[in-house]
Amino acid sequence: MPWADLRPSAFRSQVVSGAAPAGAGAAARSRVQVANEPHHRHDPRPAVNPLIRFIPPFLVRFFAKPYVAGDSLAAAIEVVQKLRRERGLLSTLDLLAEDIHEQEQADRNLATYLEMVEAAAAIDPADRPTLSLKPSSYTTAPLQDGGDAAGSLEALRKIAEKASACGVALTIDMESRHWTDFTLDALRQLHAAGHRDVGCVLQTRLFRTEKDLDGLPAGCRVRLVIGIYREPADVALTEKPAMKERMLEFAETLLRRGHYVEFASHDDVYVRRFVEQVVPRAGVGPDRFEVQMLYGVPRDRFLGDLQRCGIVARLYVPFALGWDMAIQYLRRRLDEYPAMVWLVTKNLLSRR
Ligand SMILES: Cc1cc2nc3c(=O)[nH]c(=O)nc-3n(C[C@H](O)[C@H](O)[C@H](O)COP(=O)(O)OP(=O)(O)OC[C@H]3O[C@@H](n4cnc5c(N)ncnc54)[C@H](O)[C@@H]3O)c2cc1C
Repeated sequence: MPWADLRPSAFRSQVVSGAAPAGAGAAARSRVQVANEPHHRHDPRPAVNPLIRFIPPFLVRFFAKPYVAGDSLAAAIEVVQKLRRERGLLSTLDLLAEDIHEQEQADRNLATYLEMVEAAAAIDPADRPTLSLKPSSYTTAPLQDGGDAAGSLEALRKIAEKASACGVALTIDMESRHWTDFTLDALRQLHAAGHRDVGCVLQTRLFRTEKDLDGLPAGCRVRLVIGIYREPADVALTEKPAMKERMLEFAETLLRRGHYVEFASHDDVYVRRFVEQVVPRAGVGPDRFEVQMLYGVPRDRFLGDLQRCGIVARLYVPFALGWDMAIQYLRRRLDEYPAMVWLVTKNLLSRR
């Protein structure tokens, strides 16, 4: 079914009938390889392109500003409410807090997340944002540097306890491969402790992900992404099309197993294939999935089309307590998508 035909009624009848779509190609089979690798492995490729690493912070901030919702919780909550009010979009709110060197920073991040839970809980449940969080934000001993993540699990527990009590849903972001075991273990522990509204992220670029699908808590929410961290070729795919084929393949598996799928991509072609082909094939309704994109990536019209088809759309809305905390996230975005420099310049010029 071509996207032009994806009118709300057409979508619903296809979803209800669960009919197999015409032209659905078999998803490319992925290589299976489990990578329970040591944490101190030498990475042959730099985490961020050296050219991007040496752009001065003020320039990173300039080019990437449209991707950050503000430098305070209040500013970010205002953005979340505006997105919902004016465009019907839901949000997942994220504090940019990486590269922690002092315990004081880790403590401040935890305290801010506890405040974020309260701020989210004060919003009507129909409009309420979820919260996204990174385990590395709560430790001065990050796993990618050979640390032991001391304090991360305790912080996640505290946030999950408060979030469960307040009716706020959490998603644990997935960081580099060093964090995958830790994050999935934490997820399982939180679910075992009764925190059922904690979801996770799986990166289709990692070979191990196919096996990780089997170890998820029953029915938990899963955000599927290709993964933004550069990973070496012995543990991960290196070509985006192959990663995206796996998003479709894994999305179908997860839907069939009763998971709620958050399909997070800006690639129109793959998002369309997900809603037009995978969802009907899995035979589930629009209450079992949503599409997610990043705040600031210009996809307004496409998101509107999805919403008109009755599809839930959510933006990942990052904010920072000070711009220095946002720089690392912004460098990763620039590294992945250097055309941001041109896009932002064009937007600024066209505003004049
Ligand atoms: C909601 C959400 C949450 C995420 N959480 C995680 C996570 O926890 N862990 C993780 O590793 N990764 C995460 N990611 C990042 C993800 O892994 C990808 O790196 C990212 O989404 C880009 O992949 P893509 O599927 O959009 O395809 P791409 O091929 O990278 O992008 C498709 C098209 O979108 C446009 N586009 C993409 N990025 C930009 C940009 N910055 N500015 C302007 N246009 C752009 C371009 O037109 C591009 O051609 C998340 C992404 C989203 C949307």
